[in-house]
Amino acid sequence: MEKESAVLLIFTGGTISMSENPATGALRPIDFNRLQELMPELKQTGICIKSIPFQPFIDSSDVHPETWEKIALTINENYADFDGFVVLHGTDTMAYTASALSFMFENLSKPIILTGAQLPIGMLRSDAKENLLTAIEIASAKENGHAVVPEVCIFFEDTLFRGNRTTKKNAEHFNAFNSYNYPPLAKAGVHIKYFRSNIHYPDSGTSVRLRTKIDQNIAILKIFPGITQQTVHAILNIPDIKAVILESFGAGNAPRNNWFFNELKDAAQRGILIINKSQCSTGSVEMGRYETSLNLVSAGIISAYDCTTEATVAKLMYLLGEYDNIDQIKHKLSISLCGEMSVS
Ligand code: ASP
Repeated sequence: MEKESAVLLIFTGGTISMSENPATGALRPIDFNRLQELMPELKQTGICIKSIPFQPFIDSSDVHPETWEKIALTINENYADFDGFVVLHGTDTMAYTASALSFMFENLSKPIILTGAQLPIGMLRSDAKENLLTAIEIASAKENGHAVVPEVCIFFEDTLFRGNRTTKKNAEHFNAFNSYNYPPLAKAGVHIKYFRSNIHYPDSGTSVRLRTKIDQNIAILKIFPGITQQTVHAILNIPDIKAVILESFGAGNAPRNNWFFNELKDAAQRGILIINKSQCSTGSVEMGRYETSLNLVSAGIISAYDCTTEATVAKLMYLLGEYDNIDQIKHKLSISLCGEMSVS
């Protein structure tokens, strides 16, 4: 007889664990005991479930890199004792946390599934129970003694996504997330159908390794027609800034004004990493395809290819935290570390 599966649930907060404050009408986190009362199904899964509530629960807009570290350390401390991990998290910054965890855990061989809800668990039409129960089932799924999905993922509504490919796309409907540039890892209907060719499996014989150092000295420069030199200059000259994500147009294009080029080139020469990430959700940056991106190449700008902004933020913070050598960081930015981008 197969051993009972064991899953660790880590509760960080989010709408799933909130109720309405009668005084203000605004949603605020409830306590863990109340949450357990609202989820009697947890005892009926046939899976051994242990819960670790972070106290107090937080709205994910209050999540910081210290929260990523706390989640990662909790998983690491319990890694040997569980088949998989489910992280209950608010949807607003879930894609950032999933991306950060994917970089922090090298050679992951067990599932880390993030999920949450668009409506609090105590509300009649809440999506919380389906999301949580399916996430638990996925986290415990094994075949021939190995995890079916040994990746950091987001499960939402009926789809399992690679976490570092996701973006929150919807604040209204239950399908809150999408992965625009990578296909789903599984779909949940009457059965859970896994798309194994989309899932990354670690080399056997490698053991998991955790790295949690983070450097927050990065910024995002989203360009728009009419952006002034003053704005661009201010962002590229933030004290201690080490990397700037340039959110460009279309396939990675930007204005050709001399001042814009010179600001970027000057920053690159001062050792600031500039990463070209398109404002489009689908598709990839292709520097040099249009004349409006040719000069970015000569300014020393690095392509984010089809990486999301969320994953680019997490990747930069992780690389700047863990490595000192700028050439090594540039090299790691140009390759996919854990399936976060498609580089041809
Ligand atoms: N503001 C909430 C949060 O991110 C939204 C949610 O959970 O859906 O914590």
